[in-house]
Amino acid sequence: MKKKGILERLKEGPVLGDGGYLLELEKRGWVRAGPFTPEVALMYPTALRELHVEFREAGAEVLQALTFYASRDKLATVGLEDRLEELNRSAVRVAREVAGDQCLVAGNLSLTWMYEPGSPSAADRVRKTFDEQLAVQVDEGVDFIIGETFSWLGEALIAVERAKQTGLPVMVTICFENTDQTAEGKSAADAAKALFDAGADIVGMNCLRPPQHILGPMEQMRKAVSGYLACQPVAYRTPKEKPDFTSLPEFPYALDPLQLTRKEMADYAAQARDMGINFIGACCGTVAMHIREMARVLNKIPEDSRIWKKGGEKPMSAYEYYDHDKLNVAGRK
Ligand SMILES: [Zn+2]
Repeated sequence: MKKKGILERLKEGPVLGDGGYLLELEKRGWVRAGPFTPEVALMYPTALRELHVEFREAGAEVLQALTFYASRDKLATVGLEDRLEELNRSAVRVAREVAGDQCLVAGNLSLTWMYEPGSPSAADRVRKTFDEQLAVQVDEGVDFIIGETFSWLGEALIAVERAKQTGLPVMVTICFENTDQTAEGKSAADAAKALFDAGADIVGMNCLRPPQHILGPMEQMRKAVSGYLACQPVAYRTPKEKPDFTSLPEFPYALDPLQLTRKEMADYAAQARDMGINFIGACCGTVAMHIREMARVLNKIPEDSRIWKKGGEKPMSAYEYYDHDKLNVAGRK
């Protein structure tokens, strides 16, 4: 039986995305901080496969192929430009193997760092960059395309234009750095309208900011447009005056104490659903524990039904001993 596509699933209700790959794989020793290129897909595909499995088992309905920064110019910075095809192919293949019939696989385009506003030659270079990755990803078999982490609306619009050429559903999300606007000064509402006008099926925001600083702009998008909206925030706590986690001195080596709890990410998922966000996922800093709690709050996974005999003569764990099951209704409040 053919898998239900992303648009079909969104029509039925909120879809749960996955978490962040590069930063987590960096912590595990497979990605180099600095370039943050995804050669792990070639060099240690088992490590990538394992993280996909963790997200799938946590309840994610979409797995993003790890082709973020797998563009020619980015790969050239680490001497791997000749392995672009091989890398994009391997990343999609690994995601598809793990996805099976359970999850959808999204191809992935990201910011290129090549875009310049008002420069037709830069725009053409970005087009070529996207087309090169898309050709391989589509050939390998993705269910839809996600273009993400665009500070420049102009670059996001090029991603929509190129991804649409594939004939697959297209989701493109922008990001706000430390001010509530795109790099060229567009508001969330204007950016969402422009992306839908360009033909995107799903638009929204991802990365850089935690739920606390992304849901405001998302709400403005929700008021401005009626199409499907996606939200994929980071799971790091950031101050109001510096909401972009990559601008903090803690990036990338001291982020650990800033990581949000799974309860905070579950609260985010509930808020996003109540706000009418359709694609509810997450980005950097989000690991399986977060996705699992998000899945639980969105009723994507059942409560744990394994046998546990408690309330006997003696408590048999600290959880029982300190009455956590009474304090935490269903263990989750
Ligand atoms: Zn991110």
